[in-house]
Amino acid sequence: MSKPLRVLVVEDSPDDEELMIAELERAGYETSHTRVDQPDTFRDALHRGPWDVILADHNMPCFSAPRALAILAEERIDLPFIIVSGSVSEAIAVESMKAGAHDFFAKNNVTRLPSAVEREVREARMRKERREAFEQIRRAEEQARLIVSNIKDHAAFLLDPEGRVASWNAGAEQLLGYGDEEIIGRPVSVFALEDEGGEQEVAEQLRRALAEGQHTTECFLRRKDGTRFWAECSSSRIDDEPHGFVRVIRDVGERKRLLDELVQAVRVRDEFLSIASHELNTPVTSLAIQLGSAARLLDRSASTPVDKVRQKLTAAIRQMDRLTGLINSLLDVTRITSGKLQLAPERLDLAEVVRDVVARFEKTTPGAGPRVEVAAPSPVAGCWDRSGIDRVVENLLSNALKYGAGKPIEISVETAGDRARLSVVDHGIGIAADEQERIFQRFERAVPERHYAGLGLGLWIVRQIVEAHGGSIHVRSDEGEGSTFTVDLPRLVVGSEHM
Ligand code: ADP
Repeated sequence: MSKPLRVLVVEDSPDDEELMIAELERAGYETSHTRVDQPDTFRDALHRGPWDVILADHNMPCFSAPRALAILAEERIDLPFIIVSGSVSEAIAVESMKAGAHDFFAKNNVTRLPSAVEREVREARMRKERREAFEQIRRAEEQARLIVSNIKDHAAFLLDPEGRVASWNAGAEQLLGYGDEEIIGRPVSVFALEDEGGEQEVAEQLRRALAEGQHTTECFLRRKDGTRFWAECSSSRIDDEPHGFVRVIRDVGERKRLLDELVQAVRVRDEFLSIASHELNTPVTSLAIQLGSAARLLDRSASTPVDKVRQKLTAAIRQMDRLTGLINSLLDVTRITSGKLQLAPERLDLAEVVRDVVARFEKTTPGAGPRVEVAAPSPVAGCWDRSGIDRVVENLLSNALKYGAGKPIEISVETAGDRARLSVVDHGIGIAADEQERIFQRFERAVPERHYAGLGLGLWIVRQIVEAHGGSIHVRSDEGEGSTFTVDLPRLVVGSEHM
């Protein structure tokens, strides 16, 4: 079977070219060939390639094999280069081989040419495959190096079989604070914390990675500056023996914080649901009892005193009011969180709103509750949302009544320049200093639920409404002494804002 062969002949004699080609075709090669005998035409032919082999005379009038070899080297081309020459000394032959020729023949001895060509073509092919394989590895290594050095939020580095740092990337420097010259050669346990198991824990992680191929865990680590962070550490065994490891560390503190917050939010929600169902159930049960006993009184005799029935119905109305209050709080929360609560500012007298709310409370518990004093020497005019401000006063007053230990309550309303100030003072159980911020958050309470009814929503709603008006709310309180809630509101609210 004929074998195709592309031959570049560097030769000034067409006869010699023919001689060599004939020898190759006799051996079964189907050649395509070109003859050149000058540097320029040689260079052009090289570029026009591809060629499988170069057969070159040693000396020509305008060219030579050593010059052709120099051009090949210059062009970084690796082709089998066989010198076929008249008569040459051994010294020149050795010199040419050193310059890169692969074989050397006398023109009168070309019978060995085909086998030499076959060998050199095969070897050139193998050299090419090896070069390509090396190039692929080099490219893969370069890509891996680029990837690793560009990972800025992960520390990714190699450990030797003893667990010492063997390489270091920019992310590792950024995350752990060590430069590569400070850390390479040091044990990876330098980042470990004693209270997290220290050196032994790291050894255990590597032991498991060695046994299982890969091991991932989360723990606190220490940076060079001594600060701690919550990290995910994964170690992967390198399969070459002796086994080293790839260690990847990333800061997952934010993820852990969010997760903790989520767990806490679910806990608070579950607690709220249990409190809410209990809180709603109590007035409903009481309402049913009062209405039931009113009905029984009427059934029993036509002459039942109206007063007795009224008493039951008044108690029932009180429970209805409580129920309405709870449902309103839930509706407020839904409106606020869904952004559907809107302020409709209008000109109001804050003193008048306060007096209305107090009157409403007194109507529901005539003569039964503690004394509520309102100090509002003059009108306090401003532009506010009526129902929002009503809810603020109502919540603060109902808290003062609930937690005020039955003692008198003082409410004052005054103008302070371009602001209005409302203070609600009670002399009840007070609030511990470390609870005073928390109680303004949703569902947060600072009292045992079995002693005081409530959903833990009132102050949160109050703060949302006050802040939506551009105002602020503060509490001053001493445990067992009572509390003062102070609301500051700007007196002019421009336009209508969403809450
Ligand atoms: P609730 O009263 O339904 O629990 P709030 O949001 O109105 O919800 O109040 C949150 C918590 O703040 C209450 O559970 C209570 O611990 C505390 N608190 C509110 N007002 C007072 C007050 N005047 N005196 C003492 N504690 C109060």
